[in-house]
Amino acid sequence: MPASPTEDELTPAIIELKKENPELGIAKVHALLTNKFPEWIVSEKRTRKILQNQGLIVSATGQAPNVQVYPSSRVVSGLNLAKWTPKVDVKWFDKRKGKGLVATQEIKEGEVIWKEDPFIVAPEWDIFDLQTRSLACMFCTTPLGDSPLITTCLASNITSPCTARFCSRLCLTRSAQVHPLLCPARNPASIPLIKFARETRWMALHALTHCTGRLLLAYQSDEKTFNDDWEISCALAELGMEERHKYSFNLSGQSEPDRDAWKKAHRLFVQAFKEPGTPLDVKKLAKILKKPLPKNLQTALFDYDTGFLRGLGRMSLNLEAHGGLYALHSHLNHSCDPNVSVRHLNQRTALARITLIGKRDIRVGEELLVTYVNPQAPYRARQNELQGWGFGACTCPRCVEEAKKLKGGNDQELADLASELKAGLGVM
Ligand SMILES: [Zn+2]
Ligand SMILES: [Zn+2]
Ligand SMILES: [Zn+2]
Repeated sequence: MPASPTEDELTPAIIELKKENPELGIAKVHALLTNKFPEWIVSEKRTRKILQNQGLIVSATGQAPNVQVYPSSRVVSGLNLAKWTPKVDVKWFDKRKGKGLVATQEIKEGEVIWKEDPFIVAPEWDIFDLQTRSLACMFCTTPLGDSPLITTCLASNITSPCTARFCSRLCLTRSAQVHPLLCPARNPASIPLIKFARETRWMALHALTHCTGRLLLAYQSDEKTFNDDWEISCALAELGMEERHKYSFNLSGQSEPDRDAWKKAHRLFVQAFKEPGTPLDVKKLAKILKKPLPKNLQTALFDYDTGFLRGLGRMSLNLEAHGGLYALHSHLNHSCDPNVSVRHLNQRTALARITLIGKRDIRVGEELLVTYVNPQAPYRARQNELQGWGFGACTCPRCVEEAKKLKGGNDQELADLASELKAGLGVM
């Protein structure tokens, strides 16, 4: 029987059609939609509204129509999963939960599900210090021994030295994805930004520095490279703007920078990648970024609210504990009783590479879940930490069970929490 689809059903369907047919206008996308889903009752007005909300059509006051629009969305298009594993698929759950990964085949306890190198890695500060002291690879973060393959940054010279060293020529070549913009020899305008991130131990800022460097350099190469990288960075989960005051910019246990620090970081960020402070630095940056950025992309990266703060929020939500950002791993949702563990198994050869392993048998269709917090921590501590990150109350089966038990006990405060949880689940 024909029925009106929910927003959560309709939105991903429209996004997919528009991405498959980027040249089509509202009426044609709508026609495709009604063709593809004859059982749905949808007005063209509703299709238009969703396209607008998703930033997939240019508004009357917006950019010229020949400028490409870069939407920010939670649905990944063109993410080539086969590159990592045939064992999982991306699934869109609903607006509240967003996306996640489900098993497409039986996975056994102890089985390797996939291995993944980071999209970018802004390593923990002790590793970062090794990098700047030439003791760890500037690209893959692996501590360096005395291998004859080790190579130095080619741009380094006496007047503007760069201490970066790399495991091998392969790491050196790959570092062209991001190092040129962070290299003190090639882009000295980035020095104050990186120094500030280090002083404040601000991992999300450091990660955003790497991510922006990678996107800007991808834009200088071919269109496909850029579109792939842009998709990955847009697909990262982000907090809504209304939740911005809850942004937690550091990994847990570290203090959160205040608004003045955000402003200062933004100033240094713009100085590093867009408007260096001295004519010489301007010249050096222009040598790396020859192709000018379109206006909408400049806004998406450098605008204080819509670019910078959102970018920081995205980084802090998606960074793995050691500072890497992974295209596929970042799709995993949380459970306090996870069925997947994340390991750094290649300590000697590729420190930043992660291996995802089944913690127990996983059925086809079952969601893959990791823990964002220490699973040994008690109920209340886990809830607090997750809420501190802006994730809201955890309603995983373990939390529901433990909340129930606590409700049976005498602790009134915890009992209240338990009923809040139940209310969140709609079982009150
Ligand atoms: Zn390396
Ligand atoms: Zn360098
Ligand atoms: Zn939980």
